[in-house]
Amino acid sequence: MTEKIQTLLAGRWRDASGPAYITHYPHDGSEVAELHAANAADVDEAVQAAHQAWQQPAWARLLPHERAGILHRIAQGIRGRSEELAQLQRLDNGKPIKECRALVASAAGTFQFFAAAAETWEDAVTPARGDFLTLSVHQPLGVVGAITPWNSPIASEAQKMAPALAAGCAIVIKPAEITPRMAIELARIAEQAGVPAGIVSVLPGKGSVVGEALVRHPLIKRIAFTGGTSVGMGIQRIAAEKLMPTSLELGGKSPTIVCADADLDHAVAGVLFGIFSSSGESCIAGSRAFVHQSVYASFKEKLLAAVRGLRVADPALESTHMGPLVSRSHRDGVERYVQMGRDEGGQVLCGGSRPQGGYFDQGSYYLPTVIEGLPNTAQMCREEIFGPVLALLPWSDEADLIAQCNDNDYGLASGIWTRDYKSAWRIGRALHTGTVWVNTYKLFSISTPFGGVKLSGTGREKGRQGILEYTSQKSFYWGMNESPLPWAQP
Ligand code: NAD
Repeated sequence: MTEKIQTLLAGRWRDASGPAYITHYPHDGSEVAELHAANAADVDEAVQAAHQAWQQPAWARLLPHERAGILHRIAQGIRGRSEELAQLQRLDNGKPIKECRALVASAAGTFQFFAAAAETWEDAVTPARGDFLTLSVHQPLGVVGAITPWNSPIASEAQKMAPALAAGCAIVIKPAEITPRMAIELARIAEQAGVPAGIVSVLPGKGSVVGEALVRHPLIKRIAFTGGTSVGMGIQRIAAEKLMPTSLELGGKSPTIVCADADLDHAVAGVLFGIFSSSGESCIAGSRAFVHQSVYASFKEKLLAAVRGLRVADPALESTHMGPLVSRSHRDGVERYVQMGRDEGGQVLCGGSRPQGGYFDQGSYYLPTVIEGLPNTAQMCREEIFGPVLALLPWSDEADLIAQCNDNDYGLASGIWTRDYKSAWRIGRALHTGTVWVNTYKLFSISTPFGGVKLSGTGREKGRQGILEYTSQKSFYWGMNESPLPWAQP
């Protein structure tokens, strides 16, 4: 039965003021939730309420350990409802339940980490160059906006909400239209943890309406955005008019390199996980595998055997490797890319179609697909597909390999499989990507900054420094001189 849900808007649980809409379970297309989209007036109301709330003593005067206490309670609140949240996340975007549990656990860890950052952050007494004391302190920016995509909602939202709250900001979150549940539940948990009314609002709805109004609002002092590159560029343009800082976590077309000396079993497992986990709906999906010519044939054989062993099935099952894609329209887009690869001369080695029969016919499933025979310059190898499609490319010369890896608009992540630590260092330093994984892939830690270069974005999330993104730095000069300033003295 379709559940009716409300959102936390300007300190009140209510329907937003825009039209009602329904979200669907990607597994079988069934209706999940009915809610109202927000409109521009809601954006203004939420931002004005946040602007009032962040300056009130109940939030502004909290001491670092008190704010940290609230973040710890949010982490506990997430852990206390972890199974329920994981199931809601699965219904929203169709990810396998095991992955949803991992996302929920990571969101709790994010709040715990930024609680520690809030409590232990030290401002600086800088070296005085005269008879005065100089201090550099960090203050909250004010009201910030967060705009998130549908692929890993609870993790993306926690990575923005936790540092914003840790810094003492208020936050208005605009989740993806089709996956609003996690942001709404995080707001509920924050409220129960003692975050004052108005500090967190969630505005579901369309990006072109709600997202853009949020970015344009004069009281929004920062936007943390995760999503596609073209939308990110539009946000950056609007932000430029306000000189507003942004962090933009955008798309990727990440290369994974298999060297001649790699442990092939490890490399196969890593490449498989890198592209097919989350059905490839991952900004860091390793979608281009460059395999050394000397091991290409044996790597391909092992990889194809492994791909054929993947269980594409109902995301509620513990044994599922790959669930459905997020929607039928997104699945159709992936399908078009595979057709484009065929048209460009690529050979589909496995997959390349939808699975048939039963719930597969209702849901938005697509088989894990491996294509070879395409040059790195083919459109399918250049553009982000955001689905379970891997291009296999042979290489032989290291300089040419690096040039090919870097010959792409994106620069989010890369992987290297080798037993030689010197090659890993040399190649890793030469790759134009924000993250390099060596003999592993898609590992994440909240303590390590994450972000891209080139069209994969600007700014970093995570890491202890992440809290600073939500602050402005203020300098104090504190005179210690016993006599007046000498300039006008006779
Ligand atoms: P998207 O850019 O279409 O949407 C992302 C968010 O932006 C949604 O909430 C959407 O409603 C909103 N939006 C859309 N138009 C807007 C506008 N004009 N103004 C303001 N907001 C607007 O992306 P998506 O399809 O939801 O997600 C997939 C994309 O996200 C992929 O490109 C993927 O690589 C990227 N992504 C990046 C990372 C990262 O950390 N680098 C992580 C996950 C996803």
